[in-house]
Amino acid sequence: MTVRTRFAPSPTGRLHLGHVLAAKVAHSIARQSANGVFLLRHEDIDSPRVREEFYREIEEDLQWLGISWDEVTLRQSSRSFAYEAAIEALQKMELIYPCFCTRKEIQDEWIRMGAAPHGNCGKIYPRTCQKLGTAEQSTKIASGTPFAWRLDSQKAGLIAGPLTFTDLRHGVIPVIPALLGDVILARKDIGCAYHLAVVVDDSFQRVTHVTRGEDLLACTHVHRTLQALLGLQEPIYLHHPLVLDDAGERLAKRADACSIRTLRENGHSPAEILRMIQHVFEDATDNIYSKKSSLNDL
Ligand code: GLU
Repeated sequence: MTVRTRFAPSPTGRLHLGHVLAAKVAHSIARQSANGVFLLRHEDIDSPRVREEFYREIEEDLQWLGISWDEVTLRQSSRSFAYEAAIEALQKMELIYPCFCTRKEIQDEWIRMGAAPHGNCGKIYPRTCQKLGTAEQSTKIASGTPFAWRLDSQKAGLIAGPLTFTDLRHGVIPVIPALLGDVILARKDIGCAYHLAVVVDDSFQRVTHVTRGEDLLACTHVHRTLQALLGLQEPIYLHHPLVLDDAGERLAKRADACSIRTLRENGHSPAEILRMIQHVFEDATDNIYSKKSSLNDL
């Protein structure tokens, strides 16, 4: 099997040191493996936040750092038909439902319930619209009320059956399909959402190793469930530690100060920038390089 990895930034901002780590981990896994392929995918479905100059800056910064990709870059904005087909398939299986709630209505419902239902990462959707009947759904849709598609995570878990995913750092993890609740798979405004687009495209691009930050570990429970439901290829995962600043905060909070552009403008060389993330990179890949010979067997 040929190892295929990807770096999938969103062109909604500049690359910072956290992105460089993510790119470097994916790139080095591909390069350590015979005929390994490293892909760059622009996750640009969030059109209101995307800016044209960020595509170019991301590519230029990667090239300047010596991180080269192998195939034509994929833009998720060109893949709406694939996401629509996946939504249609899930709709046929009755595993998604339209949600008409506004943010305010969800908050009010949490208050009304006294205690908001919690998932692993905080409050979860109270399943208000899951209880709507078909007639009520149709009336709201016909009257033009905007809606998002939500995964019925409880039903999805039952249909998908017991699942696991393999993470090269964390081992084999049993999937909890409802960990994040009934997540949105298609947003009201853009007709798609991260969880759906990422699994559809990782499978389309035959990605064998999905590498990304540990902050997304909980999302993989949703992704593995969707892969099983949609009959998509199951990749191996590697969730790596995040680059933190001196105060132990995630870099996203002060991304501009750590943006590659700013570091470049301040005279830092590519080698210096790579040295800044070296310790986290070693931590992220420590375990897998000791298993290097088996990367191609996975
Ligand atoms: N576009 C996502 C991000 O930048 C990609 C996450 C992933 O690799 O799955 O966080």
